[in-house]
Amino acid sequence: MTEPKDAALRRSIKPVICYPVETLPAPNMSLFEDARKTLIKVDEVIAAPREAATFTVPSGHFFRIRSVEGSQVGDLNLWNANDLSEKFYTGKTRALHGTHLTTGQQMWSSFPYLRPMATITHDTLGWYGIDDFGGSVHDVIGTRCDPYTHTLLAGGQYHHCCHSNLSRALGDYLGISAQEAEAHVHDVLNVFMCTGFTRDIGQYFMKASPVRVGDYLEFFAEIDLLGCLSACPGGDCSDQHSSDTAQCHPLLVEIFKPADGALSGWETPVVNGYNRSHGL
Ligand SMILES: [Zn+2]
Repeated sequence: MTEPKDAALRRSIKPVICYPVETLPAPNMSLFEDARKTLIKVDEVIAAPREAATFTVPSGHFFRIRSVEGSQVGDLNLWNANDLSEKFYTGKTRALHGTHLTTGQQMWSSFPYLRPMATITHDTLGWYGIDDFGGSVHDVIGTRCDPYTHTLLAGGQYHHCCHSNLSRALGDYLGISAQEAEAHVHDVLNVFMCTGFTRDIGQYFMKASPVRVGDYLEFFAEIDLLGCLSACPGGDCSDQHSSDTAQCHPLLVEIFKPADGALSGWETPVVNGYNRSHGL
């Protein structure tokens, strides 16, 4: 293929940010920072290795996903606990905040709601930044490991991909089959996973997670949340997933309540203001 004469000129055009976030309502992080100092743990749930667990978090509470026993990544789904049609929207979250999330950024819900479901209030891996390979932690690019892609690429039937783990756990919680629950499972926040795109051909890559025992990612529930967390069969994702090969560890989910009055001035976000007429 021959390049046009002005190829270099065309490539040299500077990019513009698609969604400048200067007008995005900013969460009141100093309020959350003060409220964090008053937290009392009210519940905890363990996601066993190569399994998933559900949990609920009332709006105005906090939750942490914590590494226990060994380096392990987790695949997180979030829904409005009162309406499963409102669920985490990785694509728009990625467009607003970038490929990886950390403290001060928010997890946005699907159309037509498009409001913050959760705000990240603490990230013990926040120091990691972007490494020399272009990798970073807690991505919203990797969808989730799933048996369909596994069958496509490697053949066989593997049943402990995050997609299946999430489907079984949600099915148990709702009292429906895994096949029915599967329709509610969506693209995840890849907690603790270290990922990026190769610089040569832009392929999705993973590398050993920098997470260590005791690290945690903390969230503030902006609305009533139903969460489901899978302890990925990839373990720390240093080698492979979608198999029983990697060493896997549990993940701990802890729910915290702040002191009464600690959130004065905060209100649960209203749903998006677009009138949905679509011009008709
Ligand atoms: Zn996985």
